[in-house]
Amino acid sequence: MIECPKCDGDGFEVCPVCFGDGEYTDCCGECGGEGEDELGDVCPECDGDGEAFVHCGECDGDGEVTCPLCDGEGEVTEDAVLSTENAPTSDGSPPAPSSPG
Ligand SMILES: [Zn+2]
Ligand SMILES: [Zn+2]
Ligand SMILES: [Zn+2]
Repeated sequence: MIECPKCDGDGFEVCPVCFGDGEYTDCCGECGGEGEDELGDVCPECDGDGEAFVHCGECDGDGEVTCPLCDGEGEVTEDAVLSTENAPTSDGSPPAPSSPG
């Protein structure tokens, strides 16, 4: 087992959704981002900003998520690392046939 290169052995990494804040701003669900309701009144939910803080469900507000590579262990087998580094890439460009000429 070696130290997990993805999380540096911590077993967790910064939440990719809220970037560690535990919440993030998103379009206000109350007014749909308009900042006011159908009657033109300032939205009480977002104070007219059209954006509201949303509790991050990805990390449940922790700002951290369990490392998917080591599953929170902080250690991985070398095989796991190699398979990650050698993940198949799809460049999707087959060799072009020689043009008639
Ligand atoms: Zn609103
Ligand atoms: Zn989060
Ligand atoms: Zn890890």
